[in-house]
Amino acid sequence: MLKPTVIAIPFFALMIAIEAYLVIRENREGFDKKDTWTNILIGFASVAFGSLIAIVTANFYLWAYELAPYKMPMDTWWAWGLLLFADDFAYYWFHRFSHEVRFLWNFHVVHHSSEQYNLSVAVRQSWFSGVSHWIFYIPLAFLGFPFAAFVFMHGLNLIYQFWIHTKLIDRMGPLEWVFNTPSHHRVHHGVNDEYLDRNYAGIFIIWDRMFGTFVEEKEEVRYGIIKPLKSYNALWINTHGWFEMAEAFRNARGLRNKLRCVFGSPNMDHTSKQPLNIGIKAPERV
Ligand SMILES: [Zn+2]
Ligand SMILES: [Zn+2]
Repeated sequence: MLKPTVIAIPFFALMIAIEAYLVIRENREGFDKKDTWTNILIGFASVAFGSLIAIVTANFYLWAYELAPYKMPMDTWWAWGLLLFADDFAYYWFHRFSHEVRFLWNFHVVHHSSEQYNLSVAVRQSWFSGVSHWIFYIPLAFLGFPFAAFVFMHGLNLIYQFWIHTKLIDRMGPLEWVFNTPSHHRVHHGVNDEYLDRNYAGIFIIWDRMFGTFVEEKEEVRYGIIKPLKSYNALWINTHGWFEMAEAFRNARGLRNKLRCVFGSPNMDHTSKQPLNIGIKAPERV
């Protein structure tokens, strides 16, 4: 079965090229070509790794679906409408936990470690996040959404999130109330104090408004992670978080602090109660 995200690749490539042309025409120095190619390489490899991991994790979904007491009738419009919101809701929590739990951040940091903000950053995705990603979507299986319908809707959700990775689109009026937009997602990629760990939305920004994580774009966004990674090595970009976590784990005293290094917020060094400064997203103060 071909996933919508795979079918969308030529469209993504075309849009990245057009945007790059427009950005370079404005400001050649402000465009990091090497970073853009790194993003594209990471994107292709993440599709490959993601597909390999899904060979195993798809079974977890299928088993859970078997256990669902009620199966959704996917020949009705309302079941698709429900799936749209349920999948986006699951994405909100997957994304929020990916920022607030350190071992999950080790995957997601890949997406945030570019200091650019353009369409190529959208495809800069973790190679290995599929290992834990499925856990957040198992509830959809228990709700009785068939696997094929889930894959289709989830693909549409990810395709939606592509176009919001651009500086070329400003505010979008009343749409900003309901939908995740380039402005909202620029905030999400910001390391400005007030922008940290905000706007986790996929398609609908309503979840952030409901759960108190919404912030509007006001001052200019500084992109990336607190201590820039300064690497174009795709393998290092995908693995550095684990090495840094292992080091923090070694240095932590007592089991409690060691566990916090893995399951606690990535923003704190649990040995000294100081924000970490080792290339993860941490508060700027101190
Ligand atoms: Zn994020
Ligand atoms: Zn993003």
